[in-house]
Amino acid sequence: MHCPFCGAHDTKVTDSRLVAAGEQVRRRRECLACQERFTTFETAELVLPRLIKQDGTRQPFDEDKLRAGMQRALEKRPVSVERLEEAIALIKHRLRATGEREIRSRVVGELVMDELRKLDQVAYIRFASVYRQFQDLAEFRDEIERLAQDPGKQPV
Ligand SMILES: [Zn+2]
Repeated sequence: MHCPFCGAHDTKVTDSRLVAAGEQVRRRRECLACQERFTTFETAELVLPRLIKQDGTRQPFDEDKLRAGMQRALEKRPVSVERLEEAIALIKHRLRATGEREIRSRVVGELVMDELRKLDQVAYIRFASVYRQFQDLAEFRDEIERLAQDPGKQPV
């Protein structure tokens, strides 16, 4: 770590502690050349798996795209930005937890549906109806009926 003041290579860590609920390490450093002090934050960079699209092409995971899709489903629904962000964080956590380097894009779609169902049923149905491209109205109606009867249960 170069000193941001004089560019010297040698800096010494004077203090190190966990912050942000243990997700980050905050380090106080001192430059051995100019004695200036500065702080660095260290976070584990956990790589998200790449997505395998239906046609077999690979794409990097795109958080903005995921957020945009969920926001579209949640439009004018009573769900706070905080709750949406929590849901996105959970989806990313689950994707990382798979330990896979590549994952089918439909897995992400299923995770999004799981989270939307918990947040808001209207948003869930909006998303699911687009995502699953329901074959016909009957199938869509079945899905809604299933939800109405047992909202906690995973749709098939
Ligand atoms: Zn320095």
